[in-house]
Amino acid sequence: MITVGVNGYGTIGKRVADAVTQQPDMELAGVAKTRPNFEAETAVRKGYPLYAAVEERVELFEEAGIDLTGSVTDLVEESDVIVDACPSGIGAENRSMYESHDTPALYQGGEDADLVDVSFNARGNYSAAAGASHVRVVSCNTTGLSRLLAPLEERYGVEKARVTLVRRGGDPGQTSRGPINDILPNPITIPSHHGPDVNTILPDLDIDTLGMKVPATLMHTHSVNVTLESPPTADDVRELLADESRIFLVPESMAIDGAGKLKEFAHDADRPRGDIWENCVWEESISIEDDDLYLFEAIHQESDVVPENIDAIRAVTETADATESTTTTNETLGIGL
Ligand code: NAD
Repeated sequence: MITVGVNGYGTIGKRVADAVTQQPDMELAGVAKTRPNFEAETAVRKGYPLYAAVEERVELFEEAGIDLTGSVTDLVEESDVIVDACPSGIGAENRSMYESHDTPALYQGGEDADLVDVSFNARGNYSAAAGASHVRVVSCNTTGLSRLLAPLEERYGVEKARVTLVRRGGDPGQTSRGPINDILPNPITIPSHHGPDVNTILPDLDIDTLGMKVPATLMHTHSVNVTLESPPTADDVRELLADESRIFLVPESMAIDGAGKLKEFAHDADRPRGDIWENCVWEESISIEDDDLYLFEAIHQESDVVPENIDAIRAVTETADATESTTTTNETLGIGL
């Protein structure tokens, strides 16, 4: 059994903690929280051992009537692997704590690539994380792009990828984020950081990305154009992507016209929190014009990195190869819409 601790129990951390409890080869040591908010209550209700992320705030938990099992250093000591799901930049501050306990750590996409030994995506470079001490599970957008571009590169060769990312302004719980009524080039400078981030997984891929932010919380949408070295037919691409376990080809017959209906579909399918772990590629959008492939895909920012964290745990502990791990993760979470 791999004992896993989760430091930072927010949007990503709570989902990763739940996913760990579903794995046959993992057990959850507990989760660390900074304060006794509704998510701390959720952890208690689920029976997860709760640890104080900040020593000076222990009293706040006592006042809220929440029992703590210990402090975050106890959690790190007890864990074979720690998943750091703290806000961007905090992972970097935590690195020395993980090092001092000799506990391998997974960080999230908000951290800089140079914080870690290797950036990780199960489809793109699973084996690169074998035995690593500091691994970054790349962001939701980079995860989505790596899953899409890896099979295209392998099968047809990618001459050049150009992607416009229409990004949600914030997650549903991020009430302070925006824009509320605007459409922002974000960043205004080109390319956005997403292309270089894809290169941490697929180093030789030629890719330019442009980012925008819109007043939405549901999902990101990618407008994708890939010039291929050996151009296939659109049907070939549909077949190729249909074989990818973490890509959901949205059929025309479902009449799903956007992120709203995708989320509704996920709720109808009894997905926890309405999560969509898969890239959602609209089948009708897959088009070939000369050497160019075009398509639209939607990415559920809150959940597509969750199976990747689970696979990264097996990769760093060298307890399964890519196929074994992704198969187990897919089966236990119920991936495949
Ligand atoms: P979040 O704010 O929802 O959750 C972070 C949690 O960490 C919060 O509960 C916060 O209270 C807690 N925290 C703050 N400081 C802490 C500390 N010192 N020790 C322990 N816990 C602390 O953030 P999130 O959206 O889950 O993002 C976490 C990481 O995942 C970031 O790197 C982010 O870039 C990345 N990520 C986020 C998304 C997304 O869309 N939400 C997608 C992919 C990757």
